[in-house]
Amino acid sequence: MKIAIGWLYPTLMSTYGDRGNVICLQRRCQWRGIEVEIVSLTRETEAQKFSQVDLIVGGGAQDRQQEIVMRDLRGEKAQVLKEKLDRGTPGVFTCGSPQLLGHYYEPALGKRIEGLGLLDMVSQHPGIDAQRCIGNLVFEITANPIASELEQMLGEKAIAIGFENHGGRTYLSDVQPLGRVIKGYGNNGEDKTAGAFYQNAIATYAHGPLLPKNPFIADWLIKKALQKKYEQEFILTPLDDSLAVAARKAMLQRLELSNLMATV
Ligand code: GLN
Repeated sequence: MKIAIGWLYPTLMSTYGDRGNVICLQRRCQWRGIEVEIVSLTRETEAQKFSQVDLIVGGGAQDRQQEIVMRDLRGEKAQVLKEKLDRGTPGVFTCGSPQLLGHYYEPALGKRIEGLGLLDMVSQHPGIDAQRCIGNLVFEITANPIASELEQMLGEKAIAIGFENHGGRTYLSDVQPLGRVIKGYGNNGEDKTAGAFYQNAIATYAHGPLLPKNPFIADWLIKKALQKKYEQEFILTPLDDSLAVAARKAMLQRLELSNLMATV
């Protein structure tokens, strides 16, 4: 068994440590004897290569790097990526990358940059003087079917823990939020929505990185990738996540959210 993980623009979009998501997926596969190939999807990569991956990871970036990426992600590459996500290729897109999956991103300085328009949402930076949304982020995953699938896996509601650091504010239209904010700003600091969910694509403002802090999301993505590739059901061997669980407990305690403790 083997999966290919496509990593979007690793050098341009790695400002916030989201490569931890790639490492987490890779290790959790390898510990179970699943082979992993990591495919860097860069400006030099041909569009065809984008179509050959089973799971896609995109990280955060500063506005300038994000703009370079958004200008490259046009034409055939944009088409291929859109089609893949439309057809249910799983993916996790953090912060800067979801902004490029929406209709547009308006940076603090400079003009609006067009996105892929795959997710019905827009992102706007309110200006250089506006406060950034920085801090620990906790949200309950509510989008379906991921919420019910995770609940089945965990035996309880899935609570995601992360760290956000963004200037842009995202406003959703006809796309489900990934979750409901319990602590932090989430998409815009106003409406309590956290991220977005489309087919099998997870869009989030949660760094941390997200997957090592919430290993059940990594397993959900791996399962989806395997099911899609091999067209059969998979049961993943359980792994020892005691360190991650201890870290989650410590964070919930620090945030005075011990009432959520049963759900870690
Ligand atoms: N350019 C984005 C913002 O500041 C993305 C930041 C990030 O990826 N952490 O809103």
